[in-house]
Amino acid sequence: MGSITLEQVCKSFGEVEVIPGVDLQIEDGEFVVFVGPSGCGKSTLLRLIAGLEDVTSGRIVIDGQDVTVAPPSRRKLAMVFQSYALYPHMSVRKNIAFPLKMAGLSADEQERRVQHAAGILNLTDYLDRRPGQLSGGQRQRVAIGRAIVREPSAFLFDEPLSNLDAALRVNMRVEISELHKKLATTMIYVTHDQVEAMTMADKIVVLRAGRIEQVGSPLELYRRPANRFVAGFIGSPN
Ligand code: ADP
Ligand code: MG
Repeated sequence: MGSITLEQVCKSFGEVEVIPGVDLQIEDGEFVVFVGPSGCGKSTLLRLIAGLEDVTSGRIVIDGQDVTVAPPSRRKLAMVFQSYALYPHMSVRKNIAFPLKMAGLSADEQERRVQHAAGILNLTDYLDRRPGQLSGGQRQRVAIGRAIVREPSAFLFDEPLSNLDAALRVNMRVEISELHKKLATTMIYVTHDQVEAMTMADKIVVLRAGRIEQVGSPLELYRRPANRFVAGFIGSPN
């Protein structure tokens, strides 16, 4: 579970073609980073995969199923939003359980999944607090917990650390990498930060103006960048 295939995916907003045609294969369990300068289409590509935007043309296949026109709820993906998307008036427990409540799961099953996620994220002692009573890192973990309880085929992160301070960003980077090792679930992580891309990714997808410039491991991109743009962007000597 967790393979994602994009075939000639195109996206236009009105007259403006933002994604002119992307082919990409993501394997089950991979940690894939979409990296590129601001405005290159990273968020749009992620939102197309999540079903939050409709493709203009092309196909999206998840776990062998064509989901091109399926709504987000049918894609078994969990988008992790920044921690400010938490509900301030609800406890950590209720914040994490929220998608399960919406899906109509029993109270027992909600609690079982909340406890499981809290254990993984070291939040067990904080379930009765409100988000305002937590540190920035803990709040970010609650946002991740809300994704874990849905037991998705893949996690989608859109610059989840961009409003954290530098020290916390480094901590969270390590925590997300460790989470990936624990869960072994596909993760797509969007960032404009080369260091995040190089340290976290199994596979980096370098985007420029809606096109894929290169796909490869951090080492491959460093050693054999396809062009000057990739070399410049990831800071390789070529
Ligand atoms: P990134 O996440 O890499 O910074 P985005 O995917 O947000 O880039 O945006 C890519 C391009 O698409 C930008 O030029 C942006 O202005 C445009 N865009 C994104 N969403 C919309 C929208 N809903 N309507 C019109 N243009 C959009
Ligand atoms: Mg973006």
